[in-house]
Amino acid sequence: MHSFLANPMRHFTTVSGIQNYLREQKLNHNSIGLVPTMGALHEGHSSLVKASLSENDITVTSIFINPVQFDNVEDFKRYPQTLESDLIELQKLGNTVVFIPSQQEMYPEKTILRLEFGSLQQEMEGKFREGHFNGVGIVVGKLFNIIKPDKAYFGQKDLQQYAVINQLVKDFSFDVKLRCMPILREDDGLAFSSRNQRLDAKGRTEAIILYKSLELAKDLIVEKVSIEEIIVKVQNLFGQSTVDLEYFEIVDPVSLMPIQSYNTQTNIALCIAGRVGKIRLIDNMIISK
Ligand code: AMP
Repeated sequence: MHSFLANPMRHFTTVSGIQNYLREQKLNHNSIGLVPTMGALHEGHSSLVKASLSENDITVTSIFINPVQFDNVEDFKRYPQTLESDLIELQKLGNTVVFIPSQQEMYPEKTILRLEFGSLQQEMEGKFREGHFNGVGIVVGKLFNIIKPDKAYFGQKDLQQYAVINQLVKDFSFDVKLRCMPILREDDGLAFSSRNQRLDAKGRTEAIILYKSLELAKDLIVEKVSIEEIIVKVQNLFGQSTVDLEYFEIVDPVSLMPIQSYNTQTNIALCIAGRVGKIRLIDNMIISK
């Protein structure tokens, strides 16, 4: 147990350790909620943990920076690691069980299986992060098999990831109910992200353009401005900024396919990704008509 915790909370670093513990919990008919994270916890993660605590007898929060989902070695190496404060934060939230496996524990052998999510990975993140959703699918599939949760909690912040995991559950018949939780934002609208920790003061100020673009697009949709014009207006906004726009797409929130006209859509997802220097941020907004 970690000595810096006043009341060390239950945590496991091995698959067999957590499985033995959970086997007993299941025999006692305790329901299990899983919150997969890569650590560097923020209020967005906390909201997922709180939801799980309120809906399950046992909440397992996993902290694992999954190397297989990173297409960029630098991004993986620089991913923030704040285990000590993460555990303190989790303890404040309540009685959660923490699973902190090593890379060796999760990947004792190199994975041979490769997952491909067809049209769900064709656009947006899939275009910019080679192999990313294969890595996400592999690690989430492993976690579902290890923990066997009744419910698993994910954030709308990673909308495409949620769509991919939903497909994974359907295609592999995982016996788990998925919950997609709303995006939590800082006071000025910037979505909480572990990567925000890497922004310097100037970058932090500039990063707000992602949220501003979503707000602008939302207003233009209300004014019935055409899709093409909205895209140009968002691109123009980035023209005056040092943040590089990677993509801004207006898509169907389920199929994730770009929409040509929003007149026939009931729900529309605005999705954006940009680079503030070397730091890549994503955000989205779903608009219901
Ligand atoms: P990560 O640690 O970045 O892999 O995120 C773990 C989970 O937290 C994912 O399901 C994310 O979608 C979710 N998450 C990340 N940021 C936020 C946020 N700002 N609000 C709500 N959920 C979030």
